Amino acid sequence: MEKYSFTQPPHPYWLASTSDTDYPVLDRDVKVDVAIIGGGITGITCAYLLKKAGLSVAIIEADRLAQGATGHTTAKITSQHGLIYNKIKKQMGMEAAQQYADANEQAIREIAGIIEEKKIDCDFSHQTAYVYTERDDYVQEIETEAKLAQELGIEADVTTEIALPIKIKAAVSFDKQAQFHPRKYLLTLAKDIPDDNSYIFTQSRVVDIDDENNYLLKTAEGKKVAADKVIIASHYPCYNKAGLYFARLFPHRSYVLAVKTREAYPGGMYITAEEPGRSFRSLPTEEGEMIMIGGEHHKTGQGADTRQHYQNLAAYAQEVYPDAEIHYRWSTQDYLTPDQIPYAGYFLPSTPNLFLATGFRRWGMTNSMVSAMIIRDLIVSGESPWQNLYDPSRQTIAASSKTFIVENLNVANQLLKGKLSAAPADPTDADIETGEAKVIMIDGDKVGAYRDEQGTLHLVDTTCTHLGCELKWNAAEKSWDCPCHGSRFTYEGEIIEGPTVKPLKTGKEQID
Ligand SMILES: Cc1cc2nc3c(=O)[nH]c(=O)nc-3n(C[C@H](O)[C@H](O)[C@H](O)COP(=O)(O)OP(=O)(O)OC[C@H]3O[C@@H](n4cnc5c(N)ncnc54)[C@H](O)[C@@H]3O)c2cc1C
Repeated sequence: MEKYSFTQPPHPYWLASTSDTDYPVLDRDVKVDVAIIGGGITGITCAYLLKKAGLSVAIIEADRLAQGATGHTTAKITSQHGLIYNKIKKQMGMEAAQQYADANEQAIREIAGIIEEKKIDCDFSHQTAYVYTERDDYVQEIETEAKLAQELGIEADVTTEIALPIKIKAAVSFDKQAQFHPRKYLLTLAKDIPDDNSYIFTQSRVVDIDDENNYLLKTAEGKKVAADKVIIASHYPCYNKAGLYFARLFPHRSYVLAVKTREAYPGGMYITAEEPGRSFRSLPTEEGEMIMIGGEHHKTGQGADTRQHYQNLAAYAQEVYPDAEIHYRWSTQDYLTPDQIPYAGYFLPSTPNLFLATGFRRWGMTNSMVSAMIIRDLIVSGESPWQNLYDPSRQTIAASSKTFIVENLNVANQLLKGKLSAAPADPTDADIETGEAKVIMIDGDKVGAYRDEQGTLHLVDTTCTHLGCELKWNAAEKSWDCPCHGSRFTYEGEIIEGPTVKPLKTGKEQID
């Protein structure tokens, strides 16, 4: 395999193989039963289930549908979320582990049921999922996980061989798991939403939630959606007035390659138990079958030059499949919670009409369905069998105080480091090469400077507009990323994702 060229920007197969949606911008005021902020898998699934339950809904999406984390996922639909069940049992008890298994197994069946009922052509296939180890010291953990999974009613087993060309020590398998093309699935589902007083609005960013009288969502263009109930499905909550979510959601990025090899893929979905994390699944495409290889996760805005992560993954792909040719590459981020269980339910105990779903820890295909089922049930009947486990205000967040403290020390550290680090003073334009970026000082201010292919220098204020951390350059994606809470911006200062709702200041005049 030739060393992969990074001259082309990263592009996920899911976006390359489907058309952009063109739902309207919110250009008037509307009133619905439930307003949903965000049109990823969480928002679309919530809207679909609630409309089916007889409520009028509106999705308000800042960009276009399913282009965020959902458009960059690996789309394994599984209740096997690493070696999660023993962790939950140890931390919260057997009943919690049972609920997590029941909820996520039910989610697989719900997704499969919708696909079957609506005959959605989305490359859905049932697969066996494996967590494997190449190390002796993980064998015991794998065996314990398999035994517990069986007790929880999952069709689990232990094996010492897998069909990939990798020599393993042990693996735990879960049967009747699945994979699909997330955008083919979601874009079909979304077609059922507009109509009968329900809407999808795109390119409409919610910048404020007024909670004085019921709820009034306001977009950047000044239009409003009035709603009895609101679901925040914006990945990171875009409502910062309460909840301290900035201190209990941690952004992690990871990377994906889609490669072609002569060797036929044996089937199955695989992930390592140990670090560095590696993940495999097949990818049926019009250009023939490919293999998706993922891994290299790290905290957003922290660590090495991000291009190195693609290089590491490419080197690993070649180690396993020496003739591997890379056809697509992409990366994205997801949010982790201190106890590894997502937040789905009431935003706060005191907000019976404001809901949240996030913190899926790279397992959002089933967890978004679980979240949507919980929130639908809370809205429609006032209770859900899984509401306590997923409750965003649960007590176990405090019990995971070690993770909480370590993560927040890391944020404080990033904040300080960013403020104290020196930047070169007034370098000439020639110091920044085409396609490269640097943080420079201009008249005492830190400014991020990126030189594009035409030689134009783009200047932005590198202070994050969310909570003021110093942004880091992400060379692989050509973006400015926040190492504290994961907001990301283009080199022109536009918002890509994260908690912020304000673009960066740009150009020397505005920065002054
Ligand atoms: C590399 C990687 C691989 C993964 N692979 C898997 C996998 O195999 N299986 C699995 O189960 N999970 C996987 N995940 C996790 C999964 O992809 C995510 O958990 C899931 O896609 C999150 O969906 P979402 O709808 O919550 O967020 P998103 O898809 O990001 O959607 C949120 C939407 O909200 C919009 N938005 C944000 N702010 C506003 C605002 N103010 N106003 C209006 N709209 C707003 C955004 O534009 C975005 O479209 C993976 C994650 C990563 C990082």
